[in-house]
Amino acid sequence: NIGDLLLVEVANRLQACVREEDTVARLGGDEFVVMLEDLDKEEEEAAAQAEAVGKKILDAISQPYALHEQEYNCTASTGISLFCHQDNIGVDEVLKRADSAMYQAKSAGRNTLRFFDPAMQAVLEARTALENDLRRALAENQFRLYYQMQVYHNGHIIAAEVLIRWQHPQRGLVSPLEFIPLAEETGLILPIGQWVLETACTQLKAWESDPLTRELQLAVNVSARQFRQPDFVEQVYAVLEKTTIEPSLLKLELTESLVLDNIDDTIVKMQALKELGVHFSMDDFGTGYSSLSYLTQLPLDQLKIDQSFVRNIGIKHSDGAIVQTIIGMAGNLGMEVIAEGVETEAQRAFLEQHGCPVCQGYLFSKPVPVGEFEARLKSS
Ligand code: C2E
Ligand code: MG
Ligand code: MG
Repeated sequence: NIGDLLLVEVANRLQACVREEDTVARLGGDEFVVMLEDLDKEEEEAAAQAEAVGKKILDAISQPYALHEQEYNCTASTGISLFCHQDNIGVDEVLKRADSAMYQAKSAGRNTLRFFDPAMQAVLEARTALENDLRRALAENQFRLYYQMQVYHNGHIIAAEVLIRWQHPQRGLVSPLEFIPLAEETGLILPIGQWVLETACTQLKAWESDPLTRELQLAVNVSARQFRQPDFVEQVYAVLEKTTIEPSLLKLELTESLVLDNIDDTIVKMQALKELGVHFSMDDFGTGYSSLSYLTQLPLDQLKIDQSFVRNIGIKHSDGAIVQTIIGMAGNLGMEVIAEGVETEAQRAFLEQHGCPVCQGYLFSKPVPVGEFEARLKSS
């Protein structure tokens, strides 16, 4: 009867690991089945979610059991099989795949999980490897900041956006598109974001004594998780105080989805930072699903027209119209406007003609290391 008690306790722990809408069943003997519903539509993301729950289950089951005043231990082997309605595979096939994955897990050693699909297993292993590397990257000083100029129509460089790069010891330069989402998920974005902010402000300080650079503004991207920290305002304040820079030279770039996710919290934080003198730009503007009424409530200094619209200037009439509308809106709301992703002279001319003289894009420069950026400043 100790065995029965163990099964009951395992069942309880399994149930505690899943959501209401998920299913926990015992197939017989010591085998359980957990069915997770409504995972992400993207297969990779769904796999990551299933893996996360799988790990939680392994951890829950491996905690000691107190049964009849004795302590017992056990571990589980977990097999995962992903399926969706379109797959058209029957229940039997799903279970068979999960079973086969479970046997692979067993033979790989106790307390492990395996996916049925070897390709999915490989994707997850690559992701885990990336995550482990990412954890070391800060300590080992592998991040770099690149600077991309923001230019007034007469060619005058007025600002730059700082864009992070990861100098990976084996992979070379890794794009933020590859590691920022993972950094967000794992929380590593918090120390990374802090590093970006400090590095940018330190640069502003270093530029303060040179007439060529002392009026340059730096735009820093802020991620959702970073902004939602309860003490985000204090963190920015601490960096401003430590580096003693002029706060209006710092411009924080927020995205529409970040801003809208918790509009009340957003307004409080933006206003507090605004009072310190910090500027704000709305990145990727036009791609969100927002109503426009909130725009007037936010202390924004600038709208940044998303590059997807800029790219279609002269190609897709409606995107040209959107660009004009954003420029007009910024003007009416008393905000500056900048276009990003400007690659051609035709795009630049259209933007200038319609009232957007400030541009950022490959037409002027790609993002470059600080030394190169300074060299271009001197020669411009
Ligand atoms: P974003 O903030 O919208 O940055 C603009 C992206 O467009 C940059 O890509 C830039 O290199 C690229 N770009 C600029 N001009 C052109 C152009 O003329 N043509 C084309 N095709 N692309 C252009 P990047 O550097 O790969 O950054 C991608 C995204 O990663 C950024 O989008 C931003 O969301 C994120 N990111 C970059 N650095 C940081 C950071 O320090 N913190 C956070 N939280 N996110 C960052
Ligand atoms: Mg940006
Ligand atoms: Mg952008």
